Amino acid sequence: MTRPRVGIVGAGQLGRMLALAGYPLGIECTLLDTSPDAPGAQVAKSIVGGLDDARALAALAGKSDVVTLEIENVAVAALEALAGRVAVFPPPAAVAAAQDRLAEKTLFRSLGIATAEFVTIDKATDAASAAGLGWPVILKTRRLGYDGRGQRVVDSKAALAAAWRELGQVPSIAEAFVEFEREVSLIGVRGARGEQAFYPLAENVHRNGILASTIAPYEDSALQREAERCLAALMEKLDYRGVLTVEFFHTKNGLVANEMAPRVHNSGHWTIEGAETSQFENHLRAVLGWRLGDARARGHSAMLNLIGRLPPRDAVLAVPGAHLHDYGKSPRPARKVGHCTLVDSERARLLERLEPLRVVVAQSNQ
Ligand code: AMP
Repeated sequence: MTRPRVGIVGAGQLGRMLALAGYPLGIECTLLDTSPDAPGAQVAKSIVGGLDDARALAALAGKSDVVTLEIENVAVAALEALAGRVAVFPPPAAVAAAQDRLAEKTLFRSLGIATAEFVTIDKATDAASAAGLGWPVILKTRRLGYDGRGQRVVDSKAALAAAWRELGQVPSIAEAFVEFEREVSLIGVRGARGEQAFYPLAENVHRNGILASTIAPYEDSALQREAERCLAALMEKLDYRGVLTVEFFHTKNGLVANEMAPRVHNSGHWTIEGAETSQFENHLRAVLGWRLGDARARGHSAMLNLIGRLPPRDAVLAVPGAHLHDYGKSPRPARKVGHCTLVDSERARLLERLEPLRVVVAQSNQ
């Protein structure tokens, strides 16, 4: 019997976890990455080449029934060309919208999804137009920002103009600072026949712009409905297939969308142990046109990111029930090198059991 073959552009930790989720289902994943030693290349077949390189992408297409991606910063023209040879999901237009903060926010607003107020900053004198947002504002490059990179919080016109120069004088937006009560994200998946499934909302805590921890479910049925409405509208509009993530600020006026990721997401890592079907498995099922899996949570889960370097393995495993995920990366400050998860049937007990794990992680994160 021939095995279903999925090509994955990128072989970071998300590609690695996709390949691992495909393994028990008999799915053969081939990953494309610039490094032969990338996290995903350590666990599955890989092709070494540039993610935008037409020859490398053609080689990937030759080994795949369908191609997907684990990183959104891939040239859309290259994905469109690839889509002429092999099915590509999510659709390149969805990737294009997620690559550009202006296009993304414009799409959100066109669907009635609230965003922070913003102005475009294309030249230093545009800083004047940000005054109406109130200070401070957050300057964000339109493209290629992640984990807090390509961003500066500034509190005056002069500081905004200076920050814009520092970030490379590239097309940017200045965004009003949102006074949020918490940050939440919703992960949804849409299949080949338009069917959809949604995970429960997850509550996220960021440090220095990098996700530090996620606790899920965040139980608020009205908020869950509101977030699902946003994702459903986006997925319909984009004729989406696969997993889509939207990060929101929860404010006293409801949800404000911050950004979307056309892929599996760090705030969904808890689903590996904490949901009936993980986000990784559901993404593979969706792109292959298979039946989607149940996205319900199995109790309550907490995920802590391991940043900079791994804590001593034994210290993590000494915490009863802790699951350790090592991405096989070399240490570097601010780099996500792994995560750990705890699951409990009761939220209060989960939070209690999490404390010793938090201590271990805090001692090593850099
Ligand atoms: P982003 O790269 O847009 O996901 O931003 C990273 C993190 O910076 C977010 O998760 C927030 O914690 C914070 N942040 C980004 N934009 C805003 C904003 N407009 N107001 C307040 N905090 C923000």
